[in-house]
Amino acid sequence: MDLSRFPRRIYTEHPTPIEPLPRFSEWLGGPEIWIKRDDLLGLAPGGNKTRKLEFLAADALAKGADTLVTCGAPQSNHCRITLAAAVKEGLRCRFVIEERVPNSYREDASGNNFMFRLLGVEAVTVVPAGTDMTAAMQKVADDLAAEGRKGYIIPGGGSNALGGLGYVACAQEMQQQWFEKQLRFDHLVVGSGSSGTHGGLLAGFLGNRIDVPITGVGVSRDPADQEPLVHREAQAVVDLLGLDIQVPREAVVSVGGYWQPKYSVPNAKMVEAVQALARTEAILLDPVYTGKVMAGLIGLARQGRFKAGERVLFLHTGGAPSVHAYEAELLGSMPVAD
Ligand SMILES: *Cc1c(COP(=O)(O)O)cnc(C)c1O
Repeated sequence: MDLSRFPRRIYTEHPTPIEPLPRFSEWLGGPEIWIKRDDLLGLAPGGNKTRKLEFLAADALAKGADTLVTCGAPQSNHCRITLAAAVKEGLRCRFVIEERVPNSYREDASGNNFMFRLLGVEAVTVVPAGTDMTAAMQKVADDLAAEGRKGYIIPGGGSNALGGLGYVACAQEMQQQWFEKQLRFDHLVVGSGSSGTHGGLLAGFLGNRIDVPITGVGVSRDPADQEPLVHREAQAVVDLLGLDIQVPREAVVSVGGYWQPKYSVPNAKMVEAVQALARTEAILLDPVYTGKVMAGLIGLARQGRFKAGERVLFLHTGGAPSVHAYEAELLGSMPVAD
């Protein structure tokens, strides 16, 4: 598929590495685990939102915007990376932050909040859980317009059809890497949140006829709520690409049970996963996303859904800055939920 007709800014010069995890695989016992290092993407430091922003920022520039407006949770990687893209492009950036856990936003918190300030966010509006984020961002854009400026609204997680193209590009990048290294995988495991990553990959796999099954691990919803979101996103990306494909509902597979008690709130399986990867491979996972996603991979291997002799590729979507906002939990010096 030819993505070159979509304007794109380039924030990472090279494909991200695909590496085996021999010590982690030995620790786990069973399947052979590999990792795709999307935590090494560009933008201070990068993660999956970097790939989406390549297309979204290009569109903002094409439309003459001077300010990126987006939203997220208090430790949002998406907000940090959107801000980083804005800095790089000479744009300004404003956030609407949703306090999904009441009173959890502290301007002086560490992790991503610290980076919001270091990178120079122009304004942050904090709203309570359940606020209509689309309307709240429109209000920011209206305020900018009243001053003669032009905002460009990016939805939460950058997960619209255009943002999803970033993971179509990733699918194509992986296809080429597998070909060059003569690698075959039996499963791909990816975090599933606002759904642009999971949905974009699925669109890219269908469009390029890659038949490796994708398992999404929910970071905020169980399958009954998550899968329709991913299905809609994948179809929107397929439609934007102009492909004559109906995304089969059964191609959307996610697992729940690893994100509880709540989005962004630590649990014991996440702590085990973060410690295990740090101590076997010196790779940092984050407490909100990739730690819970790796806990899902570990759980599926232990349940026998990923078997000895199979090869599983884990997509590392980034998020490392937030480890600093959860140090006591990750070191086991503060109790967490089961
Ligand atoms: C946003 C995010 C995800 C989830 O990706 P979506 O495209 O929102 O589903 C996973 N991992 C990290 C580190 C993230 O920041």
